[in-house]
Amino acid sequence: MTDSSESLNFIEQIVAEDLANGLPKENLRFRFPPEPNGYLHIGHAASICLNFGLGNKFNAPVNLRFDDTNPTKEEQEYVDAIKNDIQWLGFQWAQECYSSDYFQQLYDWAIELIKKGKAYVDPQSAEKMAEQKGTPTTPGTPSPYRDSSVEENLEIFDKMKNGEYPAGAYVLRAKIDMASPNMLMRDPLLYRIVNKPHHRTGSEWCIYPMYDWAHGESDYIEQISHSICTLEFKPHRELYDWFLDQIYDDNKQRPKQREFARRNLSYTVMSKRKLLQLVESKTVSGWDDPRMPTISGLRRRGYTPESIKKFSEVSGITKRDSVTDVSLLEFCIREDLNKTATRVMAVLDPVKLVITNYPQDKVEMLEAENNPEDPKAGTHEVPFSRELYIEREDFKEEANSKYFRLSLGKEVRLKSAYIIKGESVVKDENGNITEIHCTCDLDSRSGSGTEASMRKVKGTLHWVSIAHAVKAEVREYDRLFLDEAPDSHEGKDFMEFVNPDSLNIIKEAYLEPFLKEAQLEDKFQFQRLGYFTLDKNASAEHLIFNKTVGLRDSWAKQQSEKKAQNQPQPKANKNQPQAQRSALNEMQKISKKYTNLSGAKLEAARADIEKLAEEITYDELEPLFNTAAKKVGTRIGVMISLGVLLKNGQERNDSINEFISKGAEDNNELLAEEANKLG
Ligand code: ATP
Ligand code: MG
Repeated sequence: MTDSSESLNFIEQIVAEDLANGLPKENLRFRFPPEPNGYLHIGHAASICLNFGLGNKFNAPVNLRFDDTNPTKEEQEYVDAIKNDIQWLGFQWAQECYSSDYFQQLYDWAIELIKKGKAYVDPQSAEKMAEQKGTPTTPGTPSPYRDSSVEENLEIFDKMKNGEYPAGAYVLRAKIDMASPNMLMRDPLLYRIVNKPHHRTGSEWCIYPMYDWAHGESDYIEQISHSICTLEFKPHRELYDWFLDQIYDDNKQRPKQREFARRNLSYTVMSKRKLLQLVESKTVSGWDDPRMPTISGLRRRGYTPESIKKFSEVSGITKRDSVTDVSLLEFCIREDLNKTATRVMAVLDPVKLVITNYPQDKVEMLEAENNPEDPKAGTHEVPFSRELYIEREDFKEEANSKYFRLSLGKEVRLKSAYIIKGESVVKDENGNITEIHCTCDLDSRSGSGTEASMRKVKGTLHWVSIAHAVKAEVREYDRLFLDEAPDSHEGKDFMEFVNPDSLNIIKEAYLEPFLKEAQLEDKFQFQRLGYFTLDKNASAEHLIFNKTVGLRDSWAKQQSEKKAQNQPQPKANKNQPQAQRSALNEMQKISKKYTNLSGAKLEAARADIEKLAEEITYDELEPLFNTAAKKVGTRIGVMISLGVLLKNGQERNDSINEFISKGAEDNNELLAEEANKLG
């Protein structure tokens, strides 16, 4: 069992209580039950991590059950993809099961129900039956076929099974209660005729069990102790129990259904039907397009299983539906890659740089650290020569003192190499810069130990040696949708919100030669640019890298700037429970006016921010580290809040340290003072 000091989510608590109340430990068994009608998405990952997490926590088996009761939408391709994704996430099921393996058993039980007078066949149209169902406040009217004889029902059901009727001619219904306040109990369907071959049972069956009938009984057949599903099934629980009552044997484990909230993610859609629409309309290149919220898409984008599991952990298991902000997912991958990705240099928008005092044919192999976060990661060599590429945006002919990149007459360091100084430029007839000429302090090589090598200059640039660089295609991705909740607008199709610029292809990027050896699933940080991984379609002749995520949450920054421009402000992000959402908002509201205050009012505002910060999580706060410099008030509020979080045990990390040290250098005294308090 678990260590009582560990915090359990509410589902785990239910299991722990059942054990405490005498459920034998060896009876514990869980399952993850996907319908093979699409690829798994990040919402499924919540359910996978929950169910397999229960298995790990309580050391109990977890089955993978394909709920394959609808032959019109299900395919073997999906079965294979689902298995692949679960294994990639690092989970292993005890048994691979299929509802379709239970078709005979389910059929036999249906016959029993008919014999007991608890099921009947009905030839009426779906519309007619819906009419008779009544409303939640008015009871339904019984079907005229409700009291047909057992013999008659058996005979017709047998013919249904034998394919003697077309689809829709008959259904089999449970005879429960047409006046039940739960509409699902008003004689629900058990079977319908579907004249389609099934991906596993072929044309053996032409009647197929309905989800409700198949699901609970499959749980029972597999002796699942806890059948965990999402909230929309809560009203189905009564039916789940009724079906079990009909067949349950006292000596066996009776499964129990419990519900948790679906995971929703901002700026995307999650239903498989909608994802399929994106695939079929060729809006994306396939289920594993790196912009898709599918597990396979995230994988191709460069996400790791660890980051997805971490995301599941931090977003938690809740009882109420909520939307998690996609920036939390990005935060999780960034954290993970920061620890593991190999640092390399790549130039995406090259301009030629010539070091005029560096010998023509000289090539130096410089040592570059693979990962400063991990001393064990070692180093690799980077060739340096007289002609390099640097990023076009890293140079300005003239710049003010705030510009820390290269300009004429100013010095910067080339990463792992020398300090250079801009001297002159060569331009084409249109005035575009084609070459930058600079000189290099030949004593300043990084790591050489000379005095010149220790010299501090403001900026550091990445670069590649032109003669040694390898060419590659680089694909950068933006959100697939421009709206936070694309499928929540009444009267508008979610497809209207597709972002037309979600893919940016850079055909000619230049990489350091080390990347020639990159393997699928290798993770890299292109210094100063972000995290990248090789695409599955890359080859040695045609390298393709996908951008996983930027180094910082620049997107949240852009958005907050946009929001500031577009008054009135849209609703607060819906990712957090109510209390936290308003705490963050309140804090920002107070902060905005902070610099106008003084004396007792300032003190009071500060105290209010500190109080609110107790309810703010680090994940909410971190994106605000990118608040524009001119919004000093907000930065101060974030700094004060950060102080509270640190006091409450938040560990320091690079982002925090950087935010504090930038704040300490700020011209605004209030901000500098708050930052200095955090040291
Ligand atoms: P979709 O609406 O995306 O097609 P679904 O619920 O029909 O999803 P299933 O294949 O039936 O997809 O789901 C398998 C399991 O994963 C179910 O137990 C379901 O409750 C769970 N699940 C599906 N989507 C989510 C989600 N967004 N958050 C948490 N669990 C989910
Ligand atoms: Mg489903």
